[in-house]
Formats: sequence, C-alpha cells, structure tokens
Amino acid sequence: MPELPEVETVRLDLQRSIVGLKLTSVEIFLPKMLKDTQAEDLAHILKDAKITAVDRRGKIILLRLSSGYTIMIHLKMSGQLLYMDAEDPIGKWTHIIFGLSNGHLLHLRDQRQFGYVKALKTEDAGNDTTLAGMGPEPFSTDFTVAYLKDRFTRRKKAKIKAVLLDQSVIAGIGNIYADEILHEARIKPTRSPDVLTRQELAALHDATLEILRAAIENRGSSFSKYVDLSGKQGGYVKHHRVYRREGEPCFRDDGGTIKRIKIAGRSTFYCPKCQK
Ligand SMILES: [Zn+2]
Repeated sequence: MPELPEVETVRLDLQRSIVGLKLTSVEIFLPKMLKDTQAEDLAHILKDAKITAVDRRGKIILLRLSSGYTIMIHLKMSGQLLYMDAEDPIGKWTHIIFGLSNGHLLHLRDQRQFGYVKALKTEDAGNDTTLAGMGPEPFSTDFTVAYLKDRFTRRKKAKIKAVLLDQSVIAGIGNIYADEILHEARIKPTRSPDVLTRQELAALHDATLEILRAAIENRGSSFSKYVDLSGKQGGYVKHHRVYRREGEPCFRDDGGTIKRIKIAGRSTFYCPKCQK
C-alpha cells in the first residue's frame, strides 16, 4: 500500500502538473470506486472547477477545487494516479479518467479496486470520519515526543509496531515504514509502547522524521503497484534496512540477522541484535 512518502510524492507531482488547471470532465468505468458520491453529482461538481491546491492527509490525496469542494482520493492497496496524454491507451485497470483543461488526463488505475474517490464540501472536510479520525501528520508541530508519551501511556499491552500502523495515532505510516522507523530507533517491534523510556520516545520521534524524509527524497518505495504520477517507480527500496530483508545481515554490521515475525497479521522485519 502506498504510505506517506509514496502519496506525498504523487501529491508533489500533482501540485506541479495540475494546480491552476480546470477539470473538464470525468469518465467513470467502475462506479464502485466512488464512495458516498453519485457519478452525476461528481460530474457536476468537477465541471469547470479550477484545481486550487493539492493537499495530503495521511495516505489520502485532497484536490481542492474553486467550487468549494474537495475530492478525496485514497489509493489504498494498489491505486495509481497517472498523468496521461489524450492519445495514451487506457489500461485494463483504469476505472476513472479526469479531463484537464490543458488537454491531458488523469487516470485512476487500481487492480485490486480497494481505492476510492469521494467528493465533499471543503468546509465539511473536518467532519469526515476518515479525515477527522486521523492522528497528527508527522511533519506537523503537533507531532512531538510529549504527544507520543501521552498516546503511548494509554496503550498498555499493545505492540509498538501495531500502534505505529494505527492511523488515529500517527497519520500516514504503514507496514514498510513502521519497520524501518523501529530499526532506525533501535526498538523491538513487540515492545509495549507504554514502557518506552523518554530517550526511546525521542529516538522514535526523530527516526520517524528521518526515515519518512529520506523516503520522500527517494520518491518512495515501489513494491507491487506503486508508481509516481509519470508511471516511474520509487527509489527507496534499495535503502531499506529491514523490510523484506529476512535472513540478510543487519546494515549495522552487528552480527544480527534480520528476522520476520507476524504482528497484527502483518509481516514484520527486525534485527534481534540492535532492536531491544
Ligand atoms: Zn542490527
């Protein structure tokens, strides 16, 4: 699933490519990709609306329109947004096509079809259950060591890896970056969050920012389906220290071998030597 760095890469691409353009049309080939939104309403909302900004909340892209509406796009497991020429072929998994006033098109592809598009009034976005239920953005001033301490003391008997995946605690982290962040912070993924020391919380906070920033600089990690707006893969996989490196030596050269376990049903990779 695209996580914060992948979605941020797409957002930055969209910001460069489509802000200031108008939406001219929408073709919907698979109506179930729309959530709480009727096709005819979406067509009406989009028609000749100018895209004033492209924002992101967690793993969700938010197209802000001059008509006072926001279009939420969640790529979920395998969604791709692609900036295409009008004559480009329509792929098998293209479910929605947005027309743009410069003649280009925005294709939403999704092989597994878990993604969605939802239109809502921008002024009501704060009441949307998905958006309102999210924890702070890692790069916001609300994301502090004190915040982590406060949230984690309430999570007795949980495992830190599972808590990092909880979007109501921190927005945007998924299975890849939770493992990479915990390795960077030298914290074992099975630890209970409420017993982390002040020093460990600070290390976790800093590791979160460092890993996410490096992943954005490398335009994300491409496993399975993720690509950027131009269809290119991200370059961060070669920097992974633990994710999908089971049986390989730890990058810290500490004699540790990366282990794979399951936490909350998700494969989890860590080094038993340097993560305590
Ligand atoms: Zn290690």
